[in-house]
Formats: sequence, C-alpha cells, structure tokens
Amino acid sequence: MDLTTPIEEIPRIGPQYQKRLKRMGIKTVRDLLFHFPHRYEDFSNIIPTSQADAGGPFCFQGKILEIRNLRTFRRKMIITQATLGDESGKIKIIWFNQPYLINTLKKGEFVCLAGKVTKKNSSKYLSNPAYEKIYPISNIQRGPNESLGGRGVGWSPISNLTHTGRLIPVYPETEGVSSKWLRFIIKPLLTKFGDKIPDSLPEKIIKENNFLPVQKALWQIHFPDSLRKAGEAKRRFSFEEIFTISLFVLRERMKLMKEKAMAVPINLESIKKFTEGLPFNLTNDQRKSAWQALKDMEKTQPMNRLLEGDVGSGKTMVAMITALNAVKAGEQAAFMAPTEILAKQHFKTFSQFLKKIKINIGLITGKRSYFKNKKISRKELLEKTKNGETDILIGTQALIQNPKTSRKDLGVKFKNLALVVIDEQHRFGVEQRARLCHSRSGGYPKTIPHLLSMTATPIPRTLALTIYGDLDISLIQELPKGRKKIITKVIPPQKRKEAYDFIRDQIKEGRQVFVICPRIEPSTVNPEKEFNQTEPLKGEWQLSWAEVKAVKKEFEKLSKEIFPDLKVGQLHGKMKTEEKEEVMKKFQEDKIDILVSTSVVEVGIDIPNASIMMIEGAERFGLAQLHQFRGRVGRSVFQSYCLLFTEMYSKTINARLRALVSCENGFELAEKDLAIRGPGDFEGKRQWGIPDLAMASLKDISLVEKTREEAKEILAEDPQLKKYPLLKEKLEEFRKRIHLE
Ligand code: ADP
Ligand code: MG
Repeated sequence: MDLTTPIEEIPRIGPQYQKRLKRMGIKTVRDLLFHFPHRYEDFSNIIPTSQADAGGPFCFQGKILEIRNLRTFRRKMIITQATLGDESGKIKIIWFNQPYLINTLKKGEFVCLAGKVTKKNSSKYLSNPAYEKIYPISNIQRGPNESLGGRGVGWSPISNLTHTGRLIPVYPETEGVSSKWLRFIIKPLLTKFGDKIPDSLPEKIIKENNFLPVQKALWQIHFPDSLRKAGEAKRRFSFEEIFTISLFVLRERMKLMKEKAMAVPINLESIKKFTEGLPFNLTNDQRKSAWQALKDMEKTQPMNRLLEGDVGSGKTMVAMITALNAVKAGEQAAFMAPTEILAKQHFKTFSQFLKKIKINIGLITGKRSYFKNKKISRKELLEKTKNGETDILIGTQALIQNPKTSRKDLGVKFKNLALVVIDEQHRFGVEQRARLCHSRSGGYPKTIPHLLSMTATPIPRTLALTIYGDLDISLIQELPKGRKKIITKVIPPQKRKEAYDFIRDQIKEGRQVFVICPRIEPSTVNPEKEFNQTEPLKGEWQLSWAEVKAVKKEFEKLSKEIFPDLKVGQLHGKMKTEEKEEVMKKFQEDKIDILVSTSVVEVGIDIPNASIMMIEGAERFGLAQLHQFRGRVGRSVFQSYCLLFTEMYSKTINARLRALVSCENGFELAEKDLAIRGPGDFEGKRQWGIPDLAMASLKDISLVEKTREEAKEILAEDPQLKKYPLLKEKLEEFRKRIHLE
C-alpha cells in the first residue's frame, strides 16, 4: 500500500463506503489523508467521576460496572443504562435509542466516555456520551508525531485515544459517512503513511514562513494536541492551496505571453457609426470597457480580459462592439453562452442590433444551427464557418464540442478566428480558449484568438487575484440610465401571507413574478433511496435532481394552494430543451404570471415585465448570488421588488440579508459576503471549484499576496519547475481537476 492505493484496497472500507467516499471525491489513501475536519469537539477535559457536575463536555475514564437496556413505558423508548467506576467513585450513564450498545460495551471493560453531564433532582448522569474502549498503551501502535491523548486519571489505564479524551476532529457532514468512521479509518493510515508523505512545498518557503512540515501538519490537523497546533496546520495547508492555484495561474499566464495573436486595428469610424445608431447612449463604463478591450486587441499579445458587471449592466453591448471591430478587420469572432436559451437570446440581439451592417451571424447549439436567421444544417454551417463566410458564430458548448459524436469532422473550425467571447464564464477559461484554438484550421496557425470573458458574479478582490492572476479586468459599475432602485425586503414566516397578497396585487396590475427555489445542499440528498441508482453518482447530478424536486413541490403549492386562479409555470434543468424554451416563450409573452425555477437555470434572461423576484430559503444562497437574482427584475419603468423569504433566524443570516437590503453594489456585497460568512459557506466552492480551506483563507489579503509573491519567485528562478517535481505533479493534478468540472 502507498499513497496512491485506491480506497478499494484499504482494509475495513466495504463496497458501500467505497461508493460514498467516491461521491465525496475521495479515491485514494492520499485523498483520505487530505480530507480535513472543519472543526473540533473539545473532549480533552478528563476528570474523576467525583468531580462531575452539570455541564461539560467532560471526559471520564474507568471501568463499566454494569450495563443493561430498559424500556420506558410512557415514551416507548429504549434506554441503555450503565455505571462507570473509577478510583474516585462512580457515575450513571444513559444512552437513548442505541440498544445495540450492550453488545459493544461489556461489563468489566475499560472505556473512555465523553459528553455532557445532566443533573436531575439530586442525581447526576452522563447523557449520550461518545465512547471508546481503552487498552494499556503498550498494545497500541502510536503515530510518531502524535502525543498521548488521555492523561490517565488515578488507576485508569493511559491510552492512545481517537474519539474521546482529546480534541476530536469533526468532518464536514456527508450522508452515510460519519466523523467517527472517518477517524477510525484515517488514524491508522496516518500512523502508517503520515511520516512518509513527501512535502511538496519548497523547503525555503516552509522555513521562511515557519510552517509545520507536511508530516506534522497532517497529524495536527486531524488529531491536534491543541487548537493552536490545529491552527498552525491549517495555516500551512491554506497557504499551500492558494499557492498551488497561484502557481498554476501564473504559469498559464507565462505560457500565454509566449503566444501571438492577430493584431486587430481599431476601426473608429465603423464603431462610431454603430454606437450612434443605437437607441440609447452607452454608459461611461461601457465605453471605457469597450475601449480597453479594443486597445488590447490592437496588440499581437493575446488579450486576456475579464469584463465584470452586474446583471443588466449591458455587457453584451461591449462584446458586440469588439466583435464588430474584429469583423470589420476581416476576422471572425465566436461568442459562447452557458445555455441554449441564452445563446438564442444573444443571437437575436446580435442580429437585431447589427441588422444594418452586412455581417453574417450564425448560431450553433446542440440541437440546431442557424445562418442569417435561417435554419440550416449543422454541416452547412460548419462549412460556412470553415471557409470564413460566418463572421460571428454564437453558440453553446457546442462551439467546442459535438455532443452526439466525437467525429472530428463535425467539430467547429474557423478560417480566421481572432476573438472569443465567453459569457457568464465561471471558471478559468483556459480550457475553452485552448479548445477553440485547436479547433481552427488554416488561417493563422501560429496565432491564438483574443479572449474576452464576461461575468455578472461579483467576486471579492482576493478571489479575483487568485484565480485570474494577472488577468486584466474591466468593470461596469454604472447601470444604464432610468433604472429604478429595486426595493428589497426580508420576509419572515409571519409575513408570508401579506407578501402573497402583495404578489397577487402586482400580477393584477399586469406584472410577472420569478420564484427561485431554495438551494439544496448535497449532504441532504440521497438519490439511492429515491431513484434506485446503482451507478456511483456525481455530486452535481444528485444536486440537480433534488432541486427539480424542490421546484415541483413549490410549483404544486403555488399553483394549487396559494394562487389557483393564476397561471404558474415551472422551469428546471431536467426538462427537455424544447419544453424549457416553450415555458420561457410563454413567460416572455406574458402567458405565465409566476415562473418557479431552480437557482441554476438561465442566468441572464431578459424579462422586462417581471417586477418581483421572490426567493425561497434565501438564507441558503450567497449574497453575490442573491444579488444576481435580484438583477433579473427592475429592467423597465415599473417599480420592482426582491422578496427574500426565510424560515431561519440567526444573527449571521440576519446580517447577511440586511446587507442585501441596504447595499446595491455587487462588488461591495461580494466583500461583505466573504467577511460575514463562515469558511466553507462561501458560494465560491461550487462556482469556482476551489477547495474549502483555500476559500476560507481568501479572507486574508496578505496571505493571498504572499502566496503570489512566493509563486512568482519560484517561477522566475525555475519556470519549468525542474527542481520541484512534486509541485509540478500537483499542478498537473490541479489541471485535471478543473478540467473535469
Ligand atoms: P448583462 O450585462 O446582464 O449581460 P445586457 O447586455 O443583457 O446585460 O443588457 C441588459 C439590457 O440593457 C438589454 O436590454 C440592453 O439592450 C440594455 N442596454 C444595454 N446598454 C444600455 C444602455 N447604455 N442604456 C440603456 N439600455 C442599455
Ligand atoms: Mg448577459
């Protein structure tokens, strides 16, 4: 066995657990060792039974004097009652509904018990404690870096403790995999491999930053001697995560700097003519962003620019100007949208706005292809794109892959592609560009296209710095003129009825309503129970099914109970494309009053008549995302509202939702979100594919800057990472990970 040994070969992990672990992304010994707890339970306070008092948690070590099951008549519950004795006396133990314990814990055995002490009348008992058998220390193999857990009280045997008598790691909750089980599996692996793990961080960095070496850090993050030590371990691993990402991004950047792109001259005349013909004036931010992109494209160095702007800020117009300019210079442009509906919407917008100019626009999706507003066969469109007839090709993922076949001749090839725009881009964009570049034939074999990515997700500065590295960023902060402020309200349960009445009034006045269903956490989903699947499932897959269920339930409720007289529609990711389009069309044509949808579908859709955005389970979303939902209304002269329904109360939730009520700026919100929320909560993980630990450390700007400095230094000294094979390996793993997502 070594670090790469698959979990199937690890003793004591049965087929069920193998499946569950894989669902969590854990495939090897190494993955297990690097699966970290997110908090610790402090069971380190070991006291004699005579000192037991109400409260705790306390830990007691001693001998089981008696143990038996009793049935309570009134509540029909089985309780297990035991007595634990030590040198100082004894204490009563009660477990609820765990009758099998009497088969595990026998009279006369030595155990360590940890939990809270309850006082009732004059008697005291330890209720539902965690338990662990203890043996004399000599029988136990001890990890080289591990200190002794139990201190040994009186005559109790000293033991090497895992589940009690120390700081106990608690792992992120996942269905079917308990923290106790993970401790039970991980500890022996740590003992066996902990000191053999090579450190991928360069020694210089470890020394300079006073980091724990990986071997010690692994012990201390799983089974810490103290919270301070656990913190030190965490500091090291957070650094490492961000360092890896930084290194990866900077290296990609270096590679890119060596590439050449077509220099596209700025055709001021055409652009002026185009913008003067628009029914509105561009905002200053739109002007500035477009200008920055055009200036980039003038160079032979490939553009690598991110355009960030709230929903409705008019990013499409900026993209259109850059595409127009490329076409005027005799080149082609490609525009990739995340969904079919959005691609079609963009195709319509482009065709409309560019009507007066002679430009050939094509649309390619998994299902259909258009050329200049006419349906044509995929084959014809591909031919027209290859020979340069198509000036701007808009599409979905179909632009870079053919869903039906892997036959190469069906992939998209361009004659002279100079610009790629990726809308609502959520990851690194590295791969998309690579694929689009390689899909070209002829033309300029030595160049790669300029890249403009656009996103409406405002992200914190530290995150942008980390995942984009030195990418150039343009911001659109200013919304087009005439937009009204959206009124945002938090709706507690007792105000629900009132809110429904308000919604009804708005619909009577002719408006329409979006309803977003609560986000479902992966751990609350058990697809096996519901769908009887035997295949191992991917996280996202389970998630989307659960969200479909949530949509259906909400749809039933609204259409049958709350608004039986109104037209309610539903939209979710598991509907067929035609069905989705049908629903969207109806909504656009005002044939649906209320549209219930998941949080993931159709991000940028434009429905000016919708004036209410109602969000169920608002506390489950990130602020940035809530802000994005809010941006779907308020696009017309009507006063719009964002209603945040919440069933839960806590200080943090309140602070977060209130931030949304008072703040309209997406970038400020993203920073606030990161500051208010606990680590691991942040939307980033799902959206950006960044590990929890790294997400948490993004709160720390100085850490992020430090990692970048270190990464730059290493790359300057050794761009090929020849001296750091382990780092290189890690980067490759990282690349695989982001490409899989
Ligand atoms: P997003 O940034 O979310 O992609 P869009 O590009 O879809 O935003 O623009 C939203 C709407 O605003 C569109 O209907 C677009 O025609 C309109 N729009 C864009 N720029 C302006 C402007 N400067 N003034 C008024 N309306 C604009
Ligand atoms: Mg958009």
